[in-house]
Amino acid sequence: MDFAWTDEQAAFRKEVIRFAQQELNDDMIRRDHDSEFSRSHWNKCADFGIQGLPVPQEYGGGGADTLTTLCALEALGYGCRDNGFLFSLNAHMWTTEIPITAFGSEAQKRRYLPKLISGEWIGLHAMTEPGAGSDAYSLRTRAARKGNCYVLNGTKTFATNAEHGDLFIIFANVDPDLNPNGVSAFLVEKGTPGLIVGKKLHKMGLRTSPIGEIALVDCEIPAENLLDKEGSGQAIFTTSMEWERTCIMASHLGMMQRVMETCIKYARERSQFGQPIGKFSAIGNKIADMDVRLETGRLLLYKAAWLKSQGRHPLRESSIAKLYVSEACIQSCLDAIQIHGGYGYMTDYQIERELRDAVAGKIYSGTSEIQRVIIAGLHGF
Ligand SMILES: Cc1cc2nc3c(=O)[nH]c(=O)nc-3n(C[C@H](O)[C@H](O)[C@H](O)COP(=O)(O)OP(=O)(O)OC[C@H]3O[C@@H](n4cnc5c(N)ncnc54)[C@H](O)[C@@H]3O)c2cc1C
Repeated sequence: MDFAWTDEQAAFRKEVIRFAQQELNDDMIRRDHDSEFSRSHWNKCADFGIQGLPVPQEYGGGGADTLTTLCALEALGYGCRDNGFLFSLNAHMWTTEIPITAFGSEAQKRRYLPKLISGEWIGLHAMTEPGAGSDAYSLRTRAARKGNCYVLNGTKTFATNAEHGDLFIIFANVDPDLNPNGVSAFLVEKGTPGLIVGKKLHKMGLRTSPIGEIALVDCEIPAENLLDKEGSGQAIFTTSMEWERTCIMASHLGMMQRVMETCIKYARERSQFGQPIGKFSAIGNKIADMDVRLETGRLLLYKAAWLKSQGRHPLRESSIAKLYVSEACIQSCLDAIQIHGGYGYMTDYQIERELRDAVAGKIYSGTSEIQRVIIAGLHGF
């Protein structure tokens, strides 16, 4: 067992942190207030090589291994205060690039991966529907075969990146009688007649990450835009979720470290009753708990990523890590506000935003309750 980053990974980590701190944090309070997604930051990340990290070099990617990718995502979470932007980036990588890399035909990989890596295109996946959330495979969107085409009809909601999306992976059922084995994934390009990006939704946190509704009205796409084969939707979705649960949480870990360091600095500088507040055990204990959560989260997440790097499918480990890190992150952000007192509640201190952003972690990529269902299910319940 080896708990150390290699010299190359450690150097890369530093480089990512420097890049994120210098390039991705400008005008943060206003962008959060205005729910503004930054396309220029997107392009900077692409130029740096972030979007391409997990994609093989033959398609223009960085060909990084799972742990190096995780290391970079954690470093981004530490260096970049824009959790919403990182959420959009993670969604693009794990729910669009990874399924195409893992399940796409050679032609699909050649057509889409270079554009997704270069920053030219933004990707997203749309599974959730108004009536199908946690029970994802009960979706009602239908795909009917018509000659050399499929015709899609249905409504999707909570689709991250919808507003700026160029490539949509739409999950639809080709035959409800086969459920869930009729669920399939389709590649739909922006501008396809019948693909309608609906209203933008407004959120409590992660506001710099756009989210919206999508309607598919007799949306006709070529049959070659089916990803893998009919009925592969479940396998494609599970693969995305496994990656997403591991790597989005890596960005959470980086954020937890950043928040903890901010608290340590504040607890040293802020004095009450004639001494730094960190000297009060009530405050010191909160910082100790933040550190314990961070370290526990790292052990869980690194193990899940290591299993992935061994070619295993860490369903149990990635669910445990996702459940733990998302909830730990919320608790650490709550503690951070408490340590900062009234100032922590004020927008200018940029702590309340971390909490608003963290809350979503218990909902996306499978709610906390669903992670527990998965874990208990593996024990036969
Ligand atoms: C910020 C954000 C980004 C998102 N991005 C995307 C995206 O890009 N693409 C996409 O397709 N979706 C996306 N989603 C949707 C997300 O996947 C769903 O919100 C999530 O799966 C829960 O579905 P729901 O909101 O319909 O809640 P519901 O499924 O209606 O759940 C409501 C409550 O009931 C609980 N519950 C449901 N079933 C069970 C059960 N069996 N046992 C115990 N408790 C249960 C839930 O845990 C929850 O507490 C996003 C959501 C958020 C918040």
